[in-house]
Amino acid sequence: MRKKVQDSIKRKLIRKMNELLEELKGAGDDDISDVESENVIGDIVDRANSVYEMQIYDKLTEKERINLQEISDALKRIEGGVYGKCIVCGKAIEERRLVAIPEAKMCIICKSAAEKRKV
Ligand SMILES: [Zn+2]
Repeated sequence: MRKKVQDSIKRKLIRKMNELLEELKGAGDDDISDVESENVIGDIVDRANSVYEMQIYDKLTEKERINLQEISDALKRIEGGVYGKCIVCGKAIEERRLVAIPEAKMCIICKSAAEKRKV
């Protein structure tokens, strides 16, 4: 995956994470401050992890929890240099797909196979 594309995806993920954390802040806890820098993945992942330990985590909907988890997972994969690879088959995920869904961790083939299994 091209570095430029990954950088823009990284920014997108960090923005999403910030939005989610902002909402949580609105939900009553004042211990979350804004993250302006884009080079603080470790920091923002820590922040997301600390959310899990806070009481407000209980107030999150199931969907918000999953979303937060997915974003922090994606950021960890970027940090670990394994971003953009399908967790099932190991092949590169289509760039277009990642731009549309930055937290995607499966290629379209594995994803649709997984969805079929669920039904
Ligand atoms: Zn796959």
